[in-house]
Amino acid sequence: MNSTEQLYADVAIIGSGPAGLAAAIELRRQGIERVVVIERESTAGGIPRHCGHPPFGMREYGRILSGPAYARRNVATALAAGVEIRLRHSVLSLAPHGQLRLASPEGAVELHAHRVLVATGARETPRSARLLSGDRPVGVINTGALQNYLYLQHLKPFERPLIVGTELVSLSAVLSCRRAGIRPVAMLEANPRPTARWPLALFPRLCGVPMHFGAQLLEIHGTGRVESAQVRLADGQLKTFECDGVLLTGQFTPESSLIRNSHLQLDSGSGGPVVDQFGRCSDPSYFAAGNLLRPIETAGWSYREGRQIGRLVGADLRGELPPALGHIHLDCNAPIKLCVPRQLVRSHMAGLEHIQLRVSQAVSGTLRVRTSNGQELWSHQVSSLPERRLLIPLKALAIPLDAERLDISID
Ligand SMILES: Cc1cc2nc3c(=O)[nH]c(=O)nc-3n(C[C@H](O)[C@H](O)[C@H](O)COP(=O)(O)OP(=O)(O)OC[C@H]3O[C@@H](n4cnc5c(N)ncnc54)[C@H](O)[C@@H]3O)c2cc1C
Repeated sequence: MNSTEQLYADVAIIGSGPAGLAAAIELRRQGIERVVVIERESTAGGIPRHCGHPPFGMREYGRILSGPAYARRNVATALAAGVEIRLRHSVLSLAPHGQLRLASPEGAVELHAHRVLVATGARETPRSARLLSGDRPVGVINTGALQNYLYLQHLKPFERPLIVGTELVSLSAVLSCRRAGIRPVAMLEANPRPTARWPLALFPRLCGVPMHFGAQLLEIHGTGRVESAQVRLADGQLKTFECDGVLLTGQFTPESSLIRNSHLQLDSGSGGPVVDQFGRCSDPSYFAAGNLLRPIETAGWSYREGRQIGRLVGADLRGELPPALGHIHLDCNAPIKLCVPRQLVRSHMAGLEHIQLRVSQAVSGTLRVRTSNGQELWSHQVSSLPERRLLIPLKALAIPLDAERLDISID
């Protein structure tokens, strides 16, 4: 009979992407003895491992690196700092007080940690969840899969794809296609404007890729391989694009299956765990950082957030964080679709710098934070699109002592 390996850690970190490794490095710098990073893949580094293009690492290392070089640098820094990285170990379940069940090639592992940081990232919405009609041919993939084919397996999945989406990751897809000699036939965006900010949004046009706004992909056709795709254009006309692939980019969701199946509270708005301004989950032995908290930010943002939450986990181990009690809940009104953190603890200690929001539709107006009896604490003129971040500086909120809820709205 196989025996279950017992593993002990001061801090266990799930996920070796920029957020997880930055937290691990910071914890070791703070003198935390046993920091173990658990990674299900056979190579550490997270998504940047297969983003074979710049720009990564400017703030962290003062130079522009490709994704794989950045991932290698993060891993090397973590190992040099004394972090233990366990590859091909998948976390299967989370239980109260830092008890984790893992599967490794050698068998079952039980990990007992004083604190756990969950940094499992986010993934793009696949075809099955986008409710697209038509045939089911080969050649309909996400950007992550495209980059995996190109940079890790050196395979071209198509020559003339139709690209859906104009988020930052969609530009990463155009860049990857260009480097591989793939010529996209067009790029579609359901909104009237590109999601990525100007001037980045000009990039596909500069590469000669026609862009269609207010355009919706209706059906994919092909027997075996993709042969064409039918699109409703902004003026209502139907257009058929001849193409040999469809690249569905963006529309990220947090990789939160572990949270969903655990005792931790899930935030239906962000799809990630509910956290306070210290990144602390509903079980205070668990913390979360990176794109799991809210899809999706850049690698640099995830790294900085991981480092900051690593610092807070260290503080918690030394008993310096305020108790996770007396939460002030943040209520958001439509079109705000997500808010991180979702609750605050009264404290003078600095945690995350901002409340971060996303909207579900294009919006312009005044973003306000009010107490439940209508006292305005902060306001600012905003104009935003879905997938773009809106920030409220936490330092700017003088929260009255009796406040139990805050309302956040755009009007
Ligand atoms: C296609 C693409 C292109 C991008 N291009 C850029 C770019 O050019 N510049 C930029 O700044 N950012 C880019 N990004 C964004 C950047 O990659 C992410 O912001 C960053 O990787 C997020 O870091 P993270 O640590 O939160 O998660 P990730 O990097 O996603 O890491 C999460 C890790 O957790 C592991 N994991 C998940 N579940 C488990 C489990 N149960 N057990 C064990 N391990 C688990 C995963 O295997 C993964 O290694 C791109 C993203 C994508 C998808």
